[in-house]
Amino acid sequence: MKRKSPTEPPAEDQETLASWRLLFESATYKNDIDTCPGKDDSVFGFEVEWDHLADYEDLQTKFTENMEATLSIGNQVLLEQYSDRNMTTRPVIRVVNLPDNRIYEMSDLRMRDRTRLLSFDAIVTSASPIIGWLKTSVHQCNDCESKWIVNERLARPREKVKYCQTCLDVIIADMKSKKPKTYHKDPDDVSLLAEECYYEDIQYLQVISPQMLASGIDDSGEHFQVVVFDEYVGQFSKGDCLTINAVVAVDPLINRDFIRDTRRMIFLKAHSVEEGFSDYTEDE
Ligand SMILES: [Zn+2]
Repeated sequence: MKRKSPTEPPAEDQETLASWRLLFESATYKNDIDTCPGKDDSVFGFEVEWDHLADYEDLQTKFTENMEATLSIGNQVLLEQYSDRNMTTRPVIRVVNLPDNRIYEMSDLRMRDRTRLLSFDAIVTSASPIIGWLKTSVHQCNDCESKWIVNERLARPREKVKYCQTCLDVIIADMKSKKPKTYHKDPDDVSLLAEECYYEDIQYLQVISPQMLASGIDDSGEHFQVVVFDEYVGQFSKGDCLTINAVVAVDPLINRDFIRDTRRMIFLKAHSVEEGFSDYTEDE
């Protein structure tokens, strides 16, 4: 079986790529990029309106159905736009102003909401120290020297890399040939290239909703954990009132007694953060 060249993205990705390109080349966003936002920053959150996604093919649907992959393609396109303007900043798309049907009260969150992108009014009650996580690891085969990247998962064990696919393909091809070799070296001599791994800054915020606060839950009580990435790290502190657009995720309990504990807690993976509340207004 012959694998497609990695430089040739599948047709669907090509469509997504073209849609993002149209969006960033539209008057609104082109003018925005022309002002070089975030020029001297290493990373910059570039805001895109939720409603605008609907104007380009079915970008909004794709974003909803496959958020990570769609964003990753969009970030690639936006990075090209920045490079074309001689900027070294790494821009990241932050979709803002989610529609009303995604506005959600935090204390109503349940396991069934897992994987949904929702918008929450939140008050920061504390912020953790800034840490990093290994987002992508790079591996190299010591026999054929081919290199590949592995996408890791946040707060999960690093992916096990057992063998070199290139060497394995060669062995399989040889075994299928008319005169296969009598001996094949195991294709498992692989090293992690620590210097080429990619780390991302993250920070955990503890938050409660304004409604929870109004009903008497204070800092010491129940709260939710939000993880923020990149340019949001180090930006928020206790008392900040925010709109957090986040994917609902689950994690094992922190103080679990045994490793295979099946209990899970809900946490929020922030996609974008806006100043002020979107929904909550104080009575009287
Ligand atoms: Zn190899």
